[in-house]
Amino acid sequence: MKTVRIITLGCAKNEVDSEEIAGVLANKGFRVDAAAEFADVTVINTCGFLQAARDEGIATIRAAVEEKRNGRTGKVIVAGCLAQRIGKDIAKVAPGADAYVGVGHMERFDEIVELTIGSNDTYFEIPPPHHRWADVPTRARSGAPWSAYLKISEGCDHKCTFCTIPSFRGMHQSKPIERVESEAKHLARTGVREINLIAQDVTQYGYDLYREFTLPKLLAKLNDVEGIDWVRLLYFYPNRLTDEVIDAMSSLDKVLPYIDIPLQHVHPEVLRSMKRPWDGDRYLKLFEKLRRAMPDCAIRTTFIVGFPGETEQHFDYLIDWMKEAMLDRVGAFVFSREPGTLAYDMPNQVSAKVKRSRYDRLMKTQQLISLEKNRSWLGKRIQVLIEQPADENWMAGRSFRDAPEIDGLVYVQGTEIPGEMIEVEVIDAEEYDLYAKPIRRARNTRGRVKSLRMVAPSNPL
Ligand code: SF4
Repeated sequence: MKTVRIITLGCAKNEVDSEEIAGVLANKGFRVDAAAEFADVTVINTCGFLQAARDEGIATIRAAVEEKRNGRTGKVIVAGCLAQRIGKDIAKVAPGADAYVGVGHMERFDEIVELTIGSNDTYFEIPPPHHRWADVPTRARSGAPWSAYLKISEGCDHKCTFCTIPSFRGMHQSKPIERVESEAKHLARTGVREINLIAQDVTQYGYDLYREFTLPKLLAKLNDVEGIDWVRLLYFYPNRLTDEVIDAMSSLDKVLPYIDIPLQHVHPEVLRSMKRPWDGDRYLKLFEKLRRAMPDCAIRTTFIVGFPGETEQHFDYLIDWMKEAMLDRVGAFVFSREPGTLAYDMPNQVSAKVKRSRYDRLMKTQQLISLEKNRSWLGKRIQVLIEQPADENWMAGRSFRDAPEIDGLVYVQGTEIPGEMIEVEVIDAEEYDLYAKPIRRARNTRGRVKSLRMVAPSNPL
């Protein structure tokens, strides 16, 4: 039995791709073991989004090639976005690997590994990006058994001037609705209680297949999947968060009132040069509508600071807007000048020093807002998915307000069981995290999630 070690870099979409690769290989008799002393093959599933990610990818490839020289691995396969973005030249940038494979080849990775093992020539498989989804049951699981990402589509049709993703992930391609549903059922059978739906833009789901935006229909199907308690959505595109989507989110029990909606900026002039929709006023109206439909919803966004041409006035406008919008979670990136993007050649590039100071100012502003938002939960009850011990007296978990890996935590007194859902009462709050005492196990969570998410102490339930 040949052993394969898979190293995953980059985003949650890459994590899903690696799980599909692992499943296909295990299905064909390979032993997939990330901690193997010796691996016949090391697969590096790379990220190509920003310069920092590319540097990390090249360093990881060099380390694996060095391991090959030291006899710790037999062959090295480079896969994913970095290979897709750079193409065959990647063998010059990161030489020494035995195969270089682009994105979307998960379902035939067993053939690629066999080919690589059986040949001494360098193998290339980097056609234009096209995603073929591996068979559902083959998807292996890494990470917490109770929580999983579910990729509902790949690629993107938008043309944001700072972004390279469409160039290497390709145009938007939805997974057929039946396939997404069967993957959710498969995950539920493996013990998953929380599914996090991901894509480059979840709101565009289905249009390429069904000539209509089908996210509400998909959510209704996922809401009926036995065993799943929470359905969370990540990556909304602002002008596609329609009334139909909001109605579905506010009426379906298991769909969490959690909205991750990257805005990138709010000043109309900056948004125009980013080729992004709407403006700060229209975003505020959208959030008002969301909060009317789901009063306890949690809203997360990300901003880019230091985009070419961003003036102090533009940035001050953003800071004032944040104080008015009062969002629960805000992440930020300093603008990365990416070759191959329109923004790369734009005039009025902002200095690294100014970018840095704007980043710090934005995060400081949000820290105060986040603290105020968290304090509004003091004394309220909320449901928590327990994940791991924080120390001998506290467990760490997440509420509906906390997406995995990017948001805060809820620390719960006592020793609860990882993977359990329990109802807690919030007793303290910090900028990003909450502290709580357990009230009771979340009885019969199936279908009652909504009422248990936030209960005023006066409501006996
Ligand atoms: S919507 Fe997202 S993935 Fe698509 S081009 Fe814009 S930033 Fe890139």
